[in-house]
Amino acid sequence: SRITNHLPTAELQALDAAHHMHPFTAGAQLAEKGARVITRAKGIFLTDSEGHEILDAMAGLWCVNIGYGREEMAEVAAAQVRELSYYNTFFQTTHVPAIALAAKMAELAPGDLNHVFFAGSGSEANDTNIRLVRQYWARKGQPERRVILSRWNGYHGSSMGSGSLGGMKPIHAQGGMPIPDIHHIGQPDWWSEGGEMSPEDFGLMRARALEAKIKEIGPGRVAAFIGEPVQGAGGVIIPPASYWPEIQRICDDYGILLIADEVITGFGRTGQWFGSEAMGIRPHIMTVAKGLSSGYAPIGGSIICDEVADVIAGDEFNHGYTYSGHPLAAALALENLRILEEERVVEHVRNTANPYLAVKWAQLTDHPMVGEAKLCGLMGSIALTPDKSRRAAFAAGEGKVGYLTRERCFANNLVMRHVGDRMIIAPPLVITTDEIDLLIARAWTSLDEAM
Ligand code: PLP
Repeated sequence: SRITNHLPTAELQALDAAHHMHPFTAGAQLAEKGARVITRAKGIFLTDSEGHEILDAMAGLWCVNIGYGREEMAEVAAAQVRELSYYNTFFQTTHVPAIALAAKMAELAPGDLNHVFFAGSGSEANDTNIRLVRQYWARKGQPERRVILSRWNGYHGSSMGSGSLGGMKPIHAQGGMPIPDIHHIGQPDWWSEGGEMSPEDFGLMRARALEAKIKEIGPGRVAAFIGEPVQGAGGVIIPPASYWPEIQRICDDYGILLIADEVITGFGRTGQWFGSEAMGIRPHIMTVAKGLSSGYAPIGGSIICDEVADVIAGDEFNHGYTYSGHPLAAALALENLRILEEERVVEHVRNTANPYLAVKWAQLTDHPMVGEAKLCGLMGSIALTPDKSRRAAFAAGEGKVGYLTRERCFANNLVMRHVGDRMIIAPPLVITTDEIDLLIARAWTSLDEAM
């Protein structure tokens, strides 16, 4: 029989466990306890197969910036499929959705980031970046500049290239990563690693590790540094204010390309259009995905500055994806950007949602189990600790308390994610103040129950 939303939940879960391999999930866990089946979503709420209304404080995977189920998006999708369902942008062809979206992205991106290379996801866009920066230096007559530097606990995707750029050891451990010529330095996570230093001194120290690494490898071999303006998947690590200006200085001094991975921070998440603007940096390349289409269709890309694009354009770039600039995804992304602009969503984050949430988020540190509470725009983390005076970690082992808290949240119809013993949020950017109240109330209940 046909598999639809009307089948009993247990039946759907059994079929899911039997045939569907899930990302970042242990199969045995799925067989033991079925996955929650999400059937519908509207605004910031999901509905599951048992009829629960769940507040999604993670915007899916940090992507549903305009909220779920927008009618305008449905109409654009239907019209685009009728007009041009697919064509590619290889071999001297193009189409209007790709042209219009690239032009719009160039308009929104700061400085001379005027050129877009499309991909289907953030991982693919970062793979593109590896190729781009190496090709750039090769064409500049410095082919030995191949090394790309990145951070431990950064996340840039999960393909071989982007997974190598990332600094997640459990990802590296499976499949032989990192690939050659990618090296990592420490992250600016003061809460966990700052010891007795002030956050500002610690931020400077961690930035200067980049300079030390460049000298160790040899400045003539380094092509680029990549970082997320605010680390997302690593646990919403908001760097001390001293960090990014020093990174910028070092990239300038050694003439290496700076890549800002804006897959999460792009399109309003930080209260600016791009996290680079929030952190005051001037990248040569930005990686984007997620909020580009608010997750309505898979699309990502690299936004590239004039100098790099001009050098690359001098020869054929032997790279591309079947779905680079896919017309349906591009049309949806364009409509998403129109909504973000016309509804002044970035201003809503900066002037309303962030200030309102910031007060309540900081109050979570009154909870006995919550140490640090940090928020940048609408991405936030709280560090769970048995002893805030020492910024201690739980002895229970990697993430057990975080996992338990996440389970309590889920039971209370709130999606919050845990990264080790940090709880993180990144709600849709259109969240209202009433919805923020509900989010915080459910978070308090869940923390109390997890204690
Ligand atoms: N870069 C960052 C900063 C991300 O957070 C992610 C995904 O979470 C990626 C890249 C990879 O994007 P995708 O999952 O679309 O491949």
